[in-house]
Amino acid sequence: MEFETLCLHADDNKKDEWGTITMPVCQAATFVHKGVGVQSQYSYSRLSNPTRSHLENTVAKLEGGVAAFAFSSGMAAITTVMKLFKQDAHIIASEDLYGGSLRLFRNVNTVEGMSFDFTDTGDIARVRSLINKNTKAIYCETPSNPLMQVSDIAELAALAHEKGLLLIVDNTFLTPYFQRPLELGADIVIHSGTKYLGGHNDALAGFAVAKTPEIAEKIAYYSKTIGACLAPWDSFLIERGIKTLPLRMDRINANAKLIAEWLRGRKEVKKVYYTGFEDHAGYAVSKKQATGFGGMISFEVESKALAENILSNVKVLQYAESLGGVESLITYPMLQTHADVPVEEREMRGINDRFLRISVGIENAKDLIDDLKQAFER
Ligand SMILES: *Cc1c(COP(=O)(O)O)cnc(C)c1O
Repeated sequence: MEFETLCLHADDNKKDEWGTITMPVCQAATFVHKGVGVQSQYSYSRLSNPTRSHLENTVAKLEGGVAAFAFSSGMAAITTVMKLFKQDAHIIASEDLYGGSLRLFRNVNTVEGMSFDFTDTGDIARVRSLINKNTKAIYCETPSNPLMQVSDIAELAALAHEKGLLLIVDNTFLTPYFQRPLELGADIVIHSGTKYLGGHNDALAGFAVAKTPEIAEKIAYYSKTIGACLAPWDSFLIERGIKTLPLRMDRINANAKLIAEWLRGRKEVKKVYYTGFEDHAGYAVSKKQATGFGGMISFEVESKALAENILSNVKVLQYAESLGGVESLITYPMLQTHADVPVEEREMRGINDRFLRISVGIENAKDLIDDLKQAFER
């Protein structure tokens, strides 16, 4: 089956005996045993639940993994995956990471004894030079958030496997519709399902997808033990979102290109970060490993006053945190996603008081551009 069809029919045979067209919300905490010592498929919803299993099977197929695990948020997925590593493990991670992941690695995992090096994972020689005897994994986001740095997944996978490390890729930004890291050699894919997979800004979710049964078994163990699993109703919502993933991503991809070009043409805009520009440093690698550029655009305007003006005056775009939904959102990374990153570090990387990020939605592009235009010119 092709991707668009899988989004609807990946797990049809696992539905119910009534033949419901959609997988129902199985709102149950526990299940009746069929007999003493008789193993039933379901026993308790922290371990597994029909609605969640259906969603997990769908996501596993979309990413090309042996199993997927659904969590109550992206951060719950990442926290659980980090349990695969022992106390003295060293991990090399992208320097431009989702703010919550940075906070977890630095302020929680590091306190517990793990160590991290943050670097541009697009620079393979640099990554290689950071590997030491305790290194257990490379953790990468590509394109990265919010600076849109691109890493070559196949190249990182080759290095990781040469050295016996796991490659973990957060695929939230491009989704399996545009990029499938497991096929490129990664071992684990992470998602904030809150974003494009759910796609409607109405539910939190996270996923970890395993390439091999061995990794799947470990994640399953930590998942059921930690218990940060996705509830049945939210599983239903994310599954419903996934049905239209290809349609939304195509529209978002096309809208983003128009908006990025419009932004680049404005004299008040100093720099536009968008991987779909042919002169973007990661353009060639993006073309090689992904079939779309996605809907994320960051840009720097000439003054803090203009940045604040845009945020205060947009009407169609909404000034809100998050990304990946049908509604276009604009955010101020300095105050929101990256508020916990030390000021000097943030400034050095360009995440300053003139830096904004747009998550392009599925509205008509003309309305979005007209809205930005009036907000720029107020
Ligand atoms: C939002 C996000 C996360 C965290 O996901 P939550 O669902 O908010 O917990 C992780 N990685 C990326 C790239 C994200 O955008």
